[in-house]
Amino acid sequence: MQVVETVAEVRRIRRAAPGSWGLAPTMGFLHAGHVSLVERARAENDHVGVSIFVNPTQFAPTEDLAAYPRDLARDLDLLARAGVDLVWTPPVDEVYPPGYQTYVTVEEVTRMLEGAARPTHFRGVTTVVARLFNVFQPDRAYFGQKDAQQAIVIRQMVRDLNFPLELVVCPIVREADGLALSSRNVYLTPEQRAAAPVLHRSLCAARDAWQAGEHDGERLRGIMAAVLATEPLAHPDYVSAADPNTLVELGDASLGVLLSMAVRVGKARLIDNMLLGRVVD
Ligand code: AMP
Repeated sequence: MQVVETVAEVRRIRRAAPGSWGLAPTMGFLHAGHVSLVERARAENDHVGVSIFVNPTQFAPTEDLAAYPRDLARDLDLLARAGVDLVWTPPVDEVYPPGYQTYVTVEEVTRMLEGAARPTHFRGVTTVVARLFNVFQPDRAYFGQKDAQQAIVIRQMVRDLNFPLELVVCPIVREADGLALSSRNVYLTPEQRAAAPVLHRSLCAARDAWQAGEHDGERLRGIMAAVLATEPLAHPDYVSAADPNTLVELGDASLGVLLSMAVRVGKARLIDNMLLGRVVD
């Protein structure tokens, strides 16, 4: 496994290794969710690249950029064992050199949910992911359903800018009690950690209702909110039952629905979701 910092080295290694490349972009502090992306990439490509970059442009000044957990030695050990060929760990000024001034903005699907709560977030995500695509030139790029809106935004960017790659969205990996794996789960105290599975429980309650024929969006949002309200440590930012393609809140959810939520538990802002019915194209 080669670990490099510069764009020039990534390009050289990429060019020297013909065959298909899969790329999994990450912010490090890796867990089994990230490993699932790598394993899928390994199975579908000749070579696998991973980027580890805590991207400052996707954090607002009030957010946890400085505190974001990091452990590069452990990450590299995990990636080597997962069979990764190339890891890019750029310093910030390799991605954003002095004088940098180009940004990629996706419009409609960035406005709601995470975009409403974090207005500059997706501009940072699409900008860095476009850069990663240009540097690695992967044949396939692997993202997690955990960040459902991110996957939709990137799919839109890939279409709109004709990136010649296939976007692969991988299922959410969860703890045994339902909590979606996240690097930010380390922010939770033991008491908060015990409260956190309430997100998954509320999604399951709405899923069960949907499967039993409750297809009214407002009532599905109400079911999720009611379960979250049983946990005093959980403070919801939003609860959504939206169209899985446009992310517009649904009245009639009979064809399919993306249930999603952001919930503050202590210092952590946890997100989770479940896709029902119609598969996102
Ligand atoms: P991050 O390092 O948090 O930016 O995540 C990097 C990639 O891993 C993103 O595409 C995430 O959606 C994906 N990911 C994060 N957590 C999970 C999880 N629990 N299951 C599946 N994919 C995940």
